Amino acid sequence: MRGQDKFLGALIGGAAGDALGYPVEFDSANEILAEYGDAGVTQYKLRGGIAQISDDTQMTLFTAAGLLTGLTRGMHRGFLADPSDYIIYGYRDWYRTQTTPFSMREGERYSWLSNVKQLYNRRAPGMTCLSALQEGVAGTIEHPVNDSKGCGGIMRVAPVGLFYCDSKRSYAYSDLAAARAAALTHGHELGYISAAALAHILRRIVEQGDGVEAATHSAMQFLPTLFPTSKYLPALQELIERAVALAKEGEDDRAAIFRLGQGFVAEETLAIALYCAIKYEDDFARGIAAAVSHGGDSDSTGAVAGNILGARRGYAAIPERFTARLELKDVIGEIARDLYRCGVMRDADFGERIWTRKYVTFDYCPEEDT
Ligand SMILES: [Mg+2]
Repeated sequence: MRGQDKFLGALIGGAAGDALGYPVEFDSANEILAEYGDAGVTQYKLRGGIAQISDDTQMTLFTAAGLLTGLTRGMHRGFLADPSDYIIYGYRDWYRTQTTPFSMREGERYSWLSNVKQLYNRRAPGMTCLSALQEGVAGTIEHPVNDSKGCGGIMRVAPVGLFYCDSKRSYAYSDLAAARAAALTHGHELGYISAAALAHILRRIVEQGDGVEAATHSAMQFLPTLFPTSKYLPALQELIERAVALAKEGEDDRAAIFRLGQGFVAEETLAIALYCAIKYEDDFARGIAAAVSHGGDSDSTGAVAGNILGARRGYAAIPERFTARLELKDVIGEIARDLYRCGVMRDADFGERIWTRKYVTFDYCPEEDT
């Protein structure tokens, strides 16, 4: 099951990068250097014996749940709305986990993830996501909810690129689906075009077997056809070109990443993640260490680099020390496997009892049901 290994790699890899970066999310480059030394952050800082994931991984799971719920409903009813119409319910679910106490199966819910108590932990949730969801309005590309290009849009869309692998949908469709998922809360062009780029890159890597640089090139070539009137796309392309060039120059990672930005905004998150994933394409551990060991938004750059590196080499290439203590590893794995099962010619059974409890009635609870 080589394909499934890549789906697992992308989501577990993203969670690993997130968990590695989360403890240093708010640390400066000098503070990280002083505490961790030249090699940067290479080991988890465990809390209560676990490597905690943050909002990046939480929201990634809810993106996947929205896609899976939408497809399942479409299969049952013969009608499928735009994916973002379902993903917004996933994000409303996530918002509820961050703002109300846990209760098993009580209250309005839109995914089985609501039955997972650990997802109610608050892990520095992004204010743009929280406030956009609090407003209750779903942003679109045509009607932006704000002017934010924060990385909260890109850091959660990896499942979109995976979900459409080996489907009948075009790259235009899947890239736009990722852009729309980001635009639900992030209205600036670069906030959602960067998300489309990540989905494109992941799909190329997993579906076509592209290397990271080839997949990046494909995305940069394709995006102008999808966003022909974009004012900011050339700036994104220029930054990504710089990231690709730096990855091949052999400069010190901290200096190179400094030249790409800090990753608080989506295009910089993508640029830093791509720099690390191209430079350390065969070394997951070094790739995520570089991606988190800077003064910027370490957990988000770590998460996106982990998505890309994990998709490229698969779960089997992630060292055991990054999976053994990873929080919610089983839930992340279950979501990755369900995404994988949805591809054309795979074995998803939308009428299966467990599947309908997960994606129709939302009363599935992994702790009780397995
Ligand atoms: Mg975070």
